[in-house]
Amino acid sequence: MRKLTLTALLLALLLAAGGTYLLYEKLRVEVFFKPEYPRLGLKSRVHLEVKPSFSVPFGEVEVFVRQGNASAVLYEGPIAPFAETLIFEPKKAGFRDGEAEVVGVVRLPFKEERIFYQKVVVDLTPPTLEVVRKPRYLKVGEPGVLTLKSSEELLRAQIRFGEAVFPLLEVEGGTYKTVVTVPLFALEEPQSFYAEAVDAAGNEVRKFVPLPVRLVKFRTVKVEFDRQTLQELLLKFFNSVEDPAAQFRIVNEEFRREDQRTLVRLAQNSTDRLLAKGAFKQLPGSAVTARYGDHRLYYFEGKKIGESYHGGLDLAKYRHAPVVAANDGRVVFAGRLKIYGNAVVIDHGFGVLTLYGHLLDYSVKVGQTVKKGEVIGRTDTTGFALGDHLHFATLVWGYAANPIYFFDGNYLKYHFYEPLR
Ligand SMILES: [Zn+2]
Repeated sequence: MRKLTLTALLLALLLAAGGTYLLYEKLRVEVFFKPEYPRLGLKSRVHLEVKPSFSVPFGEVEVFVRQGNASAVLYEGPIAPFAETLIFEPKKAGFRDGEAEVVGVVRLPFKEERIFYQKVVVDLTPPTLEVVRKPRYLKVGEPGVLTLKSSEELLRAQIRFGEAVFPLLEVEGGTYKTVVTVPLFALEEPQSFYAEAVDAAGNEVRKFVPLPVRLVKFRTVKVEFDRQTLQELLLKFFNSVEDPAAQFRIVNEEFRREDQRTLVRLAQNSTDRLLAKGAFKQLPGSAVTARYGDHRLYYFEGKKIGESYHGGLDLAKYRHAPVVAANDGRVVFAGRLKIYGNAVVIDHGFGVLTLYGHLLDYSVKVGQTVKKGEVIGRTDTTGFALGDHLHFATLVWGYAANPIYFFDGNYLKYHFYEPLR
């Protein structure tokens, strides 16, 4: 078994690094041919290296790719060290889809020797993507499932909506699914959905997804800070307060962006198994003190110092009330965020995560699985929070969706669970 693995490893190394041959006893010339993608596509970046044990002034190395009568020279020059990343366009050289070979030759007076040989697959056909199932339209904050079929195996596939990326997960050969939403930023900059994919040869496809977006008018909430309150809030983030308005902007803009990036990053490892079951559970006995989409305008001393769209629900109960998991899942974060303070993030699969913010503490660890209703921590005011409450968010690949859809078992049944099956 061990020996087999070693042989396989050696073979793999040989394929990746090319052969080493002896010439005139002492001279060894190595060739390394490393394409960016496993196959050669329309425009292939290839790292090519020629490594002789010593330079020879009277000899020559040639590395070329050939397929039938077509051939293209990648390197032709002296027996001297060479390393470069080249762009090779097989179509321009007359290549077609199918196998080709890379050959390295050393020429010395009265002697020619093949020192490198590698088979490659040329794939000049970009993948095609077909949307086979989608919602009729999506409102801002509404989650939806997209199903796509690809003409070939893909290296990467995703749905893009402006800066938001929703990775597509392969559920069976050639069928890809994911959950998307219309993030709140769509209210400021309207966008459209696109499907993007890359095949094993690096050939790309980008296709418009006819999924119309319905903008929603959320309420506007004016938040007026008095000096005392703003000072206390800022002292959670800074050692001292010199310029409340400027420091507030750092918290509201920079720290908010930082948390957003963290949530997107956490979502990238979401499992392709659906862990959630049935409706998501709102914190029992809690009162909603802020809603999804609330457009908050912050004022200090009569001047507007910032704004934000609220990406979740604020749920108030009593001081240090226990917080429970909204659904079955796996803890992917239990630590400190900027805006959200002490926080727990749970992965429910297919890019759906829940965030619990402003916690006093947490009783779960990263990697731990939790059940719906299981206590995970206690409410508090950590981060950007004035009173004791839970900031609860349902995230789709890191972007806040409206939790009301996730509390609705009937909605989920037809628009979430069924299309994901
Ligand atoms: Zn909140």
